[in-house]
Amino acid sequence: MQRPDVLVIGGGTAALCAAISARRTGAQVLLIEQAPSGLRGGNTRHSRNLRVMHEEPTAFSSDTYPEDDFWRDLWSATGGATDPGLARLLIRRSSDVTDWLADAGVHLQPTAGGVLPASRKTAFFLGGGKTMLNALYARAGRLGVAIRYGCAARELLLQNARVEQVKIQAEGGPQTLRPLTTVACCGGAQANRQWLRTQWGEAAEGFINRGTPFATGEVLASLLQQGAVAVGDPRGAYLVAVDARSPADDGGIVTRVRCMPAGIVVDVEGRRFHDEGVDTASTRYSAWGGLLADRPRQTGYLILDARGLRAAPPSLYPPLTARTLADLAAQLEMDPDRLQASVATYNAAVRPPAEGADPADWHTIGLHPPKSRHALTLIEPPFGAYPMRPGITFTYQGIGVDAQARVRIQAGGSAENLFAAGMIMAPNIIGRGYLSGLAITIGIVFGRIAGEEAARHALG
Ligand SMILES: Cc1cc2nc3c(=O)[nH]c(=O)nc-3n(C[C@H](O)[C@H](O)[C@H](O)COP(=O)(O)OP(=O)(O)OC[C@H]3O[C@@H](n4cnc5c(N)ncnc54)[C@H](O)[C@@H]3O)c2cc1C
Repeated sequence: MQRPDVLVIGGGTAALCAAISARRTGAQVLLIEQAPSGLRGGNTRHSRNLRVMHEEPTAFSSDTYPEDDFWRDLWSATGGATDPGLARLLIRRSSDVTDWLADAGVHLQPTAGGVLPASRKTAFFLGGGKTMLNALYARAGRLGVAIRYGCAARELLLQNARVEQVKIQAEGGPQTLRPLTTVACCGGAQANRQWLRTQWGEAAEGFINRGTPFATGEVLASLLQQGAVAVGDPRGAYLVAVDARSPADDGGIVTRVRCMPAGIVVDVEGRRFHDEGVDTASTRYSAWGGLLADRPRQTGYLILDARGLRAAPPSLYPPLTARTLADLAAQLEMDPDRLQASVATYNAAVRPPAEGADPADWHTIGLHPPKSRHALTLIEPPFGAYPMRPGITFTYQGIGVDAQARVRIQAGGSAENLFAAGMIMAPNIIGRGYLSGLAITIGIVFGRIAGEEAARHALG
């Protein structure tokens, strides 16, 4: 198909929702996915939940999550870095995404008897993101969406706010497509080391990419160069603490390290650099991602004693362990005196909670940085360490869109036949910070809008 009505670039949530919606609107649709079929689906493969507004309990989410609660959560998570019009549109249109997914053949986990605890704000895919993708690919195929794997868009040529040509790289070599409309759903640039290096310098070498190696950002770069409105923060990245032994790409959620309150965290020189007890929320690993990025060699070590090792949840890689701190330091190729001194200084500063206070309020006195809660001494052998690095999930630079998901142009107005959905435009709504389940909801809601609008435009 050299001249499809709608060309969808990408193969994750946003792309499939756009392709299915465009096809249902009556358009001929070609979807091109850079990854081979076995690795199709981008970061969506790793996801497990989506955020949905609902005024009553549903089969998939408990209690209620009204529009204003969703809005307040979004405002607070982003610190106001959100486009209110697009955010409200997202929230309202999230209310029927579970019905839409069910109609497309996707199964969600029921609140009663599910594997993961039921949530008020999010719903979980039964079988995870990959199972959801398999259902959407099957539905797209049955509807007649043409799908090409191992087929990458390299450049979109924009003239007078119209996409005239799309240069692609396919198995047979470079080709040029001339679609009537194009929907860019190809995510961010988090797998592109060179891109990361321009923003983070040498530090980018220390990052581990938690997701797909195919988030290479060519389309994003091509559109920004040709005058698409840039949104978000070019240096922004959602980083979390992951095990430093994780693969360079695609390790997924199991690589996270989470039990910082059970011990102390030191850098490669054996020095503490942040309060390990201050953040005990379930998302604490995300604060540590950014902190690690600013340390030498982007590496830190969570140090635990036997009590901490017992408290730590099961992990992908076993902790490094030793009978003494000196032996542990040798395994970490760290100065043993330095590590022993950090632990001794910390232990000496630990104080019990005040009478009647929360038993977790063990804290330090006169220590910089302090450990404000959960400060138990590290004295019982064996000692253990988890090596950690920043794991990148996505970048915060994207392209501006309007309420029809049309790409906005710096010169004014929006492109006539170019739409965008998913992570490539998510920074319109989440300019910084994160809310669990939001990224997938953005992909579904804007994928559907973009697919329908692109098809309507193509069909005249
Ligand atoms: C470990 C992990 C866990 C996550 N868990 C959740 C979660 O539970 N809930 C949630 O809401 N979010 C989660 N996220 C974030 C979420 O997965 C992504 O933000 C979401 O998948 C974005 O959807 P998308 O369709 O925009 O991009 P993706 O799903 O990443 O898809 C992008 C697609 O574009 C393709 N592509 C890229 N460049 C080109 C090109 N030039 N030509 C053709 N194709 C191209 C890629 O191969 C890929 O198929 C998680 C992310 C990670 C890494």
